[in-house]
Amino acid sequence: MLHIKIHNIILNYLVLFLAFSFHAHAQNYLIPKNQAYETRSGYNFSYNQGKKVCNWLSYTLTSDDVRGSEESVKTFFKDSSIKVCPTEDMYEGYAYIKGQFKPNSASRNSSDEMNQAHNMLNVVPMDINFSKGYWRIMDNMISGWAVTFDSIFVVKGPIYEKKESEKVGSGKICVPDKFFIAILVKNGLDLGAIGFILPNNNNSNSIQKCAMPIDSVEAKTGYDFFADLPEYLEVFIEEEINPDLWKDKSVSYKLKSSYVKSSRCVAVNTSGERCEMETTCVTQNCWKHGCDIKSK
Ligand SMILES: [Zn+2]
Repeated sequence: MLHIKIHNIILNYLVLFLAFSFHAHAQNYLIPKNQAYETRSGYNFSYNQGKKVCNWLSYTLTSDDVRGSEESVKTFFKDSSIKVCPTEDMYEGYAYIKGQFKPNSASRNSSDEMNQAHNMLNVVPMDINFSKGYWRIMDNMISGWAVTFDSIFVVKGPIYEKKESEKVGSGKICVPDKFFIAILVKNGLDLGAIGFILPNNNNSNSIQKCAMPIDSVEAKTGYDFFADLPEYLEVFIEEEINPDLWKDKSVSYKLKSSYVKSSRCVAVNTSGERCEMETTCVTQNCWKHGCDIKSK
């Protein structure tokens, strides 16, 4: 009896501690440890003046961000406070197109955020097939998680491996060899994390083969992600991939609710436009965009 009581007290304490520590520091999950950063509406970033590309860029995603109705704007602009920030025309005539770290599809709940998604500091030279392929599919998948779970913390950035990078435009924007993505998922008191390192082309066999524990992304990039998690939790979360979070191109779900109203798919087509299909999938992805569980 006493044993049970003590057990409950410890359990309550742990739950409270988790909830408290998360709310107190949630914002800091977006900043790799000891990194200086700047902020624009909807994201944080560290800019690499030499490469003319962000070292990393991070944002939070909730259901509202991906389900909103804010339309993409058509043109990009140079950031006014970063002198070396490239202009849109520097990308003309190159094999690499303007890839976005934070996609339009994650900025649908605010015109300011949609506008800042078109800031050239959010842009990186990206292989066209990769941009329309795995990178887009990753963003669609993360959008689905944002619909399903409470909130998602995303940190993305380039990886340079070659001694001499390919360069784009008069601004000599350095083309990354690979990209990393570190994702923390919060759902109630549950936390899970997963990392990816994807080559800047669409030649990988599958996204799944590019999935890895956060630890491995840290080893490759030198950043310490989600460092504000309580340490025991950080170790636990970063050491392994949560197998429930990841299943090929779709997700296995801890359902928030069993009933989802029919609404517009949150995914983006290869044309860059939002999908027009209606869906009742819990991730609000239509059948074409990877939903494997119907809510009914
Ligand atoms: Zn769709």
